[in-house]
Amino acid sequence: MTASANSSARFLIVGPQGSGKGTQGVLVAEAFGVPSISTGDVFRENISGGTELGKRVQSIVEAGDLVPDELTCELVRDRLSQSDAAGGFLLDGFPRNRGQVDDLADFLASRGEALDAVIELSVPRDESIARLRGRAIEQGRTDDTEEVIANRLAIYERETAPILDVYRGQGLVVDIDGVGTLDEVTARIFAALAARGLSASHDGGNGAAA
Ligand code: ADP
Repeated sequence: MTASANSSARFLIVGPQGSGKGTQGVLVAEAFGVPSISTGDVFRENISGGTELGKRVQSIVEAGDLVPDELTCELVRDRLSQSDAAGGFLLDGFPRNRGQVDDLADFLASRGEALDAVIELSVPRDESIARLRGRAIEQGRTDDTEEVIANRLAIYERETAPILDVYRGQGLVVDIDGVGTLDEVTARIFAALAARGLSASHDGGNGAAA
């Protein structure tokens, strides 16, 4: 079997705000030649573009609350139905609660597909808060104020962290220490995936495995 014989690369990346999951998710997706899909990015693009969806979710996103599952799950189903996601995908920021986990499982089962790995990026709470404060200054995201950060982290701990137990029970979780330089963390992710037989393709994809 060559690397390109990897039948699929269907990944989730899960971690608290400030864990670096967005950055690492893009790198993993590129290496495996699959689209990286961030629900947060989709919502922000719609807000800045003034679309109907953007208008519906703006106040929710700005408060750091979760957009209703109905809307979020439909958006993800639509995106995963596009042809570029047929051979795999990396989802960043979805699922975020139990209802979304179940919706994704139903959707994948209806297509005869399954997840290959759930990458859990662990960082201590103090570290994630410090990183978010830095990002607030650099990027000026309207949901990076102290109050909204606290709300987003609380929702993560209450609703999102528990979904990892579901995936752990399915043997899918790859636990990665998210403290370190960007390159160190990337290398840990690729090593952990390779140890599970999931290697980035060097011949079919764009080969950016390191
Ligand atoms: P972060 O992980 O730093 O909070 P994201 O970019 O993942 O940032 O998400 C930004 C916001 O978009 C969330 O606070 C929430 O309002 C909304 N959002 C993103 N993904 C989801 C989701 N799966 N379910 C509900 N709301 C979501």
